[in-house]
Amino acid sequence: MTHPFLDLPPLSAAHFASIEDRVAGLLDTRQDVVIMQGEALLPLEGAIRATAGPGTTALNVITGPYGQTFGDWLRDCGVTVIDLAVPFHTAVTAAQIREAFAEHPEIGFVSLVHAEAATGNTNPVAEIGEVVREHGALFYLDAVASVGAEPVLPDAWGVDLCVIGAQKAMGGPAGVSAVSVSERAWARMAANPNAPRRSYLSLLDWKERWLDGGRTALPHAPAQLEMLALEACVERIETVGLDAVMARHRAAALATRAGAAALGGGLEPYVYETRDAAPVATTLRVPPKVVASELVARALRHDPAVPLAAGGGALAKEMIRVNHYGADATPRTVAASLTALGAALTEAGVATDVARARRAAEAAR
Ligand SMILES: *Cc1c(COP(=O)(O)O)cnc(C)c1O
Repeated sequence: MTHPFLDLPPLSAAHFASIEDRVAGLLDTRQDVVIMQGEALLPLEGAIRATAGPGTTALNVITGPYGQTFGDWLRDCGVTVIDLAVPFHTAVTAAQIREAFAEHPEIGFVSLVHAEAATGNTNPVAEIGEVVREHGALFYLDAVASVGAEPVLPDAWGVDLCVIGAQKAMGGPAGVSAVSVSERAWARMAANPNAPRRSYLSLLDWKERWLDGGRTALPHAPAQLEMLALEACVERIETVGLDAVMARHRAAALATRAGAAALGGGLEPYVYETRDAAPVATTLRVPPKVVASELVARALRHDPAVPLAAGGGALAKEMIRVNHYGADATPRTVAASLTALGAALTEAGVATDVARARRAAEAAR
């Protein structure tokens, strides 16, 4: 008896390469795309350790928890790090990046998170990319939470290392991820004596053993199930159309913002300006005297299926995340989330108007 997950023929090198090519198509890139056999933290860490080292000055933009992590890795690599922290209710601007270069012309590396699902903001990468290019720095981008929800265009934006994962807006698996690598980034790695080699983190290993050999022999057994799931998810996006998938996320975000504001009771979008709000997930600020994690627990008792979470760490008190991505980027999920939040607020003694919230959400799409 064959099992659909277990008794599969081996994944061929040609098949693996064809999945890489389809991911490259999704990013509209001619750069090399390496599919890493692990969660997105693998290429995120591997790309930093390969390209940044002692002698590098990095501008690290912090708009949420991932920016903080990148700063830690960079310091670990002996990099001189200039942190540019932006309040989580907004986005960084190209002007702020320009000022940082004016103050520190020695900046040779810029790390940025495109959209942060954890804080609900999104940054203007196209404009920032222009500034980074003017100064010739290497541009590293975490697009895990933006890909599928909004345009991600590494070539057009001059991104040298663009990392994606399929588990958010792409609606795919979490166990494989990808990074597009520019010629400049490969050259930087080759010149870096500290770049990981003969290591799970090593991008140079993939270049030498896979890309440079014409992608004819896989260096080790691939994560076959995850690769097939990635292929299926890219295929589904191709079938529906990337634009339609992105429009679904944008609509869910707009509906959630409008609905939460109309719900009353003091619930507000956490990110002030709509243009700074990520299409992948919407964060909400709870009214004073209400604890976000408690409100989420109540809402989930009301409806365990809604994609609600409290903010991480210190944000657990004041922030709610509505993770309306992938299969949850629908009007139905937004309406159910608003209804559950309304019920939870009512239970907590805060007056709300769920019907008004649902109408506002409907009208905002
Ligand atoms: C989700 C996400 C990742 C991947 O992390 P997981 O929590 O393991 O899914 C990386 N970067 C950003 C900005 C993300 O939002």
